Amino acid sequence: MRKPSLWAFVLFLLLPLLEGCGKNDTVYRTQGHVFGTQVEVSVYGESEERAQALGAAVLKEFDRLHHKFHAWQPSQLTALNDAIARGEVYQADEEMVDLLKSATVLAEQSNNLFNPAIGHLIRLWGFQSSDITEHGPSRAEIKRWVDANPRMSDLVFDGTRISSRNTAVMLDLGGYAKGYALDQAARILRAEHVKAALINVGGNILAIGRPGDRPWRVGIRDPRSEGMIASVALQDNEAVGTSGDYERYFMKDGKRHPHIIDPRTGETTDLVASVTIIVSGGMDVGLRSDGNSKPMFVAGPAHWREIAEHLGLKEVMLIDANRNVEMTPAMQQRLASEAGPG
Ligand code: ADP
Ligand code: MG
Repeated sequence: MRKPSLWAFVLFLLLPLLEGCGKNDTVYRTQGHVFGTQVEVSVYGESEERAQALGAAVLKEFDRLHHKFHAWQPSQLTALNDAIARGEVYQADEEMVDLLKSATVLAEQSNNLFNPAIGHLIRLWGFQSSDITEHGPSRAEIKRWVDANPRMSDLVFDGTRISSRNTAVMLDLGGYAKGYALDQAARILRAEHVKAALINVGGNILAIGRPGDRPWRVGIRDPRSEGMIASVALQDNEAVGTSGDYERYFMKDGKRHPHIIDPRTGETTDLVASVTIIVSGGMDVGLRSDGNSKPMFVAGPAHWREIAEHLGLKEVMLIDANRNVEMTPAMQQRLASEAGPG
């Protein structure tokens, strides 16, 4: 079930209404569809031609990453997965190794609540598809892949050669590669000395600089309506990421099954409607904004605070399935200070 709301979502980008029509005061936007979602690159402070060329360069990079890390169409990732399933060694490259090593660190830090090695479970539930349809895997099938205990720490790196101690590992970077794409986009734009840009990959957003006097502002979606629950200003090198139960999910017997799976049980998680986190600093804000929302989502209303603290996440908002809004003090302060008069 996929609601026709993606464009509505993109509209949440509240582009500042820039006054003055000087050529370089305009925000130029390049849009596309990659990673099964809408992407948008907004560039400020450049001529239209240059902004378009930069947008095109970023989209080209997204396309490369999409094909390299695709989880179910033939890609380097599926080739690696095939090798793992056969118990063979795969000759990868540095980029793949670095990405998987960083995912392994987050998996371990999160006690494997973030676990991109559970591709078999993600596939079993029908989420390795562009069309989400009702699925009902049997308990025995689920148990098989939970008991096989696939972990990122099963991977063995020998230079750029990768193998796995566990043939049940199937890598799925659906909750991680878009974050990497954001970081790559930021690298491209910064290398070109772009002063201000906003990159949106399906609701994971990274900000560079500020467009004029005011910062970039983005909306946080209300998971149960087409509206917004809040908007937030992003400073340079901040990224915001959301995991939600309202875009990729199916309903079965009155129960909602979103595309995030609890690796401990192999079941979909239905206690959380959305988790939004803001991270800043370093060369990997995109990755952190994407990867870290999964452990919060899986930990759920009862445990997300302890996991957030453990992962060092300061700005987190969780909306549970009953639409109760909870957040860290830092997130609360930030939203309050930005609400302004009225
Ligand atoms: P989006 O697809 O909108 O970026 P998320 O960032 O929330 O959504 O990522 C969800 C995806 O993460 C799923 O489609 C699946 O590929 C993957 N995934 C599901 N459960 C987990 C988990 N426990 N750990 C890591 N990745 C997961
Ligand atoms: Mg994501």
